[in-house]
Amino acid sequence: MRVGALEAGGTKMVCAVAEVDGKESWEILDRISLPTETPEKTVPAMLSYFKGKGIEALGIACFGPVDLHKDSPTYGCITTTPKLEWAGYDIVGIFEKELGIPVGFDTDVNGSLLGEAYYGCARGLKNSIYITIGTGVGAGIMTNGQMLHGMLHPEAGHITLHRHEKDADFQGKCPFHDSCLEGLAAGPAIEKRWGKKAADLADVPEVWEMEAYYIAQALVNFILVLSPEKIILGGGVMHQEQLFPLIRKEVSRQMNGYIKTAQMENLDDYIVGASLGDNQGILGACRLALEAL
Ligand code: ADP
Ligand code: ZN
Repeated sequence: MRVGALEAGGTKMVCAVAEVDGKESWEILDRISLPTETPEKTVPAMLSYFKGKGIEALGIACFGPVDLHKDSPTYGCITTTPKLEWAGYDIVGIFEKELGIPVGFDTDVNGSLLGEAYYGCARGLKNSIYITIGTGVGAGIMTNGQMLHGMLHPEAGHITLHRHEKDADFQGKCPFHDSCLEGLAAGPAIEKRWGKKAADLADVPEVWEMEAYYIAQALVNFILVLSPEKIILGGGVMHQEQLFPLIRKEVSRQMNGYIKTAQMENLDDYIVGASLGDNQGILGACRLALEAL
């Protein structure tokens, strides 16, 4: 079945057309990436991309916060985003109206997790979590086979963390919280603390030791609360492959033997990178399109 997929991000909009079935097969036929400007500029360009492509449904995995409650008057809208031109924008409504096809909708991180859960390394699992560490930090959560939405949707990037002993005086980057995961560990926080872009700090061990300390602390909390069967880490900062062994070691140290499961015995298989080569978000959006049908 031919579907459209939109990975709507704060910096870029990735639009794709794919052939997917309800099981495991997928082929991305075409894709474009557009800078995220204003809705007036960017939405018509996306509409003209999708029009005439023969798609039967569209899935949107969107930056947020977004309204996911089907019975809410503002369902399908981006809500209080700091990208002010998009605040309150009815992104689902415009595509439904202009394309005349069903539109599926979820957060960007739930989209990435859906991709991994149907086509990637979390296939067959009913409880998994995808954490992106990039410009911000976000988590998509599947619990008992369902994407977790709840009151709003998880905003797990903003959980409070203990400071690293050498980081007591750093003023974090989150305007809302003194000591949250995003404010201490997203790409902009690394750049602010160390005075260089994260990608240019690859050979400074203290940077990654501290980063692993924060990410591991978050993972320990997620493990204790959500009991995931797989933890997937993505986003620009996780391009630093040396983080993975540091994070696993630190999770083990902080958990201190409290949880004994097969997964905790084999952290190489439990805490992993995204498996779909940056297609997870688009493939998750394809799943959202299938679900909308
Ligand atoms: P976004 O979160 O905006 O969708 P990314 O996931 O690419 O995009 O995250 C961008 C952030 O990741 C930036 O803060 C950047 O400094 C950081 N980043 C990008 N590439 C790397 C890299 N190779 N190593 C470390 N950090 C990186
Ligand atoms: Zn915060």
